[in-house]
Amino acid sequence: MPKHFFFDMDNTLTRSKSPIAPEHEHILVELSGRADVIIVSGSSEENIWSRLTEASTGRYYSLTQNGNRAYDKDRTLIWEHLLNQRQKDAVRRFVTLARVHTPTIVPDENDLLEDRGCQMAFSFISQHADINLKEKFDPDFAKRRKVLADLHEEVEKLANEYDLEITIGGTTNLDIYIKGMNKGYNVRQLVERMSWKFDECVYVGDAIFPGGNDETVIGIIPTHPVKDYHETYDFIADMLGMPRSSYT
Ligand SMILES: [Mg+2]
Repeated sequence: MPKHFFFDMDNTLTRSKSPIAPEHEHILVELSGRADVIIVSGSSEENIWSRLTEASTGRYYSLTQNGNRAYDKDRTLIWEHLLNQRQKDAVRRFVTLARVHTPTIVPDENDLLEDRGCQMAFSFISQHADINLKEKFDPDFAKRRKVLADLHEEVEKLANEYDLEITIGGTTNLDIYIKGMNKGYNVRQLVERMSWKFDECVYVGDAIFPGGNDETVIGIIPTHPVKDYHETYDFIADMLGMPRSSYT
């Protein structure tokens, strides 16, 4: 059994943007008694922690904002890679172009772009829109892939002139952070800092494929793709010799 378990959050530990189910949290807590558990998500730390309960407190490392803010199990800050004002302004200009390219009906204009400090997150229909609406927006990532392909010159400009990287995140988002400082890079940083062995780690995620937001972890540590969070808990339960939770 691996000694260090890294998990994506949305659709890997929980339904997107949703609280963890009690029966699932029980399994994750159990695992954290036997191995290290590290949550790796594009979400902010406030968002991640608000979706866990008291049962999880003090049990997991958190690599938030794609790992650009890292916290210890007791939630003390280990590192952060902040964006500067020039980079944030460039992101705002890019978002304007993306909205012209793919116009959408937006419930709340003020809820589109979230400045998380180390990452800007742009949602095409708004961050806090109804989850059912968000899940229907771009389930196969095709809309967002097209935006990035059609605006490739702008994407390259962000990379070359502003040192920024864009990836597809969550259900409706584009995540923008410092170039190269993606999940893969930050997972590597933590493994090295803790002097863990790379082959004693595993990364579990629902988007470990080209264009997916877990892709950059490929080649850093062993990966275990899952279709959704149900498969994740089956994987852990099997590993711990626990009964699989029923969800049919
Ligand atoms: Mg995911």
